[in-house]
Amino acid sequence: MNMTDIKSMTIPELEELMLLMGQPKFRAKQIFQWLHQKRVLTFDEMKNLPTSLREELSKTCTITSFSIERKLVSQIDGTTKYLYRLSDGEYVESVLMRYEHGISVCVSTQVGCKMGCSFCASTKAGFIRHLTPSEILEQVYAPSRDTGERIDSIVLMGIGEPLDNFDNVMRFLTLVSAPEGLCMSHRHISLSTCGLVDRIYELADMGLQITLSVSLHASSDAVRDEIMPVNHRYKIPELLKACQYYTDKTHRRISYEYSLIKGVNDNAGQAKELAALLHGMLCHVNLIPVNYVEEAGFEKSGKQQVYAFQKVLLDHGINATVRRTLGADINAACGQLRRTAIQK
Ligand code: SAH
Repeated sequence: MNMTDIKSMTIPELEELMLLMGQPKFRAKQIFQWLHQKRVLTFDEMKNLPTSLREELSKTCTITSFSIERKLVSQIDGTTKYLYRLSDGEYVESVLMRYEHGISVCVSTQVGCKMGCSFCASTKAGFIRHLTPSEILEQVYAPSRDTGERIDSIVLMGIGEPLDNFDNVMRFLTLVSAPEGLCMSHRHISLSTCGLVDRIYELADMGLQITLSVSLHASSDAVRDEIMPVNHRYKIPELLKACQYYTDKTHRRISYEYSLIKGVNDNAGQAKELAALLHGMLCHVNLIPVNYVEEAGFEKSGKQQVYAFQKVLLDHGINATVRRTLGADINAACGQLRRTAIQK
C-alpha cells in the first residue's frame, strides 16, 4: 500500500482526511501542530489524539524526517552544511548561515538539476527527481533541531530549480508560513530561479510577498547562451519583461544574481551593458565571484575586477553589492557535498 506523506498535507487536506477517518475537524490542526511545531517523529507522541487514531495514522501515513548523514561546520563563521540521505538512498543538502540579522537556511528543491548552467556543480550529474514539500521542509527543521535555534529566513537557492518543481515549492511556501506551523513570513523567504519565464508570470499572479532572485550572470544573450542553456528558451529581454511584471504585481524589488567569471562576463563594457539593461527597474544586483567547480574550468574574477564592476553599476545608479563569502573552508557552495557523496 502507498503510504501518505502526511507532512506535505495542508490543514484543509488534513480536515478531509479526518472526515474520511470519521474524526472531528479540529484533529487536523492538532496533527499539523504536532508535525510542524513540536516536530514529533512518531504518531505515538501525539498525546492528545485517541489511541485508535494514532494507530490508524501509523498504518497509513509516514512522517518524513531527516537524519543528518554528514555535517560540516565552518571554523571561520559558523556556517554549517548538512548532508541528508533520503528514504530512497538519494542525497540532498542544506546550509545554515549566520548573519547579524539572524539565521538563514539555504534549501534544495530537487535531487540534481536539469538546467545545465556551465558553472554550477548541482547540474553536472543530471536530474534525478523533485523533492516533496516535506523533504524541503525537513531541510529547515533538521538544522533547527540540531542547533536548537530558530530559523529567521529561508532561501530556496540550494540544489535544483525551484520553479521547475513549482507545485511542490508552492505547497512548501503554504506549509512553512502556516500560523499552526513555523509561521515564517513570506517576506523572509527568497526564491532563486535561472529564469523560467512562464513560471515567473504564474508566480507574479499569485501575489506572494517572497523575494525573487533571478540568476542573470550575463549582460548579453551571446554570453548568457554560452553559460546558461535556459537562455536558448527565454532570451534576456523576455526574462526582464517577466521580471518587470513581477515587480508591477507584487511591488517587490528583484534581486539579480551575477557570478563574476574571469574573462567571460566581468569587463567594464559588460558592466555598462548590464546597467543599461536594468535601468529604471526596482532591483538590486548581487555580485558573486564564481565558486570553483572542477569540470567547469572557470576562474573567479580578481578582487579589483569585482569592485571595478560594482563601481560601474553604482555610477549608473544601479544598486549593487558584493556578496560576502561564507563557509569558505567547508566548500559551502551548493551542490558540492552531494557531488562528493555520490562520487564515492
Ligand atoms: N536554480 C536556481 C537556484 C539554485 S542555484 C537558480 O539558478 O537560481 C543558486 C545560485 O547560485 C544561482 O544564482 C546560481 O546561478 C548560483 N551558482 C551556481 N553555481 C555557482 C558557482 N559555481 N559560483 C557562483 N554561483 C553559482
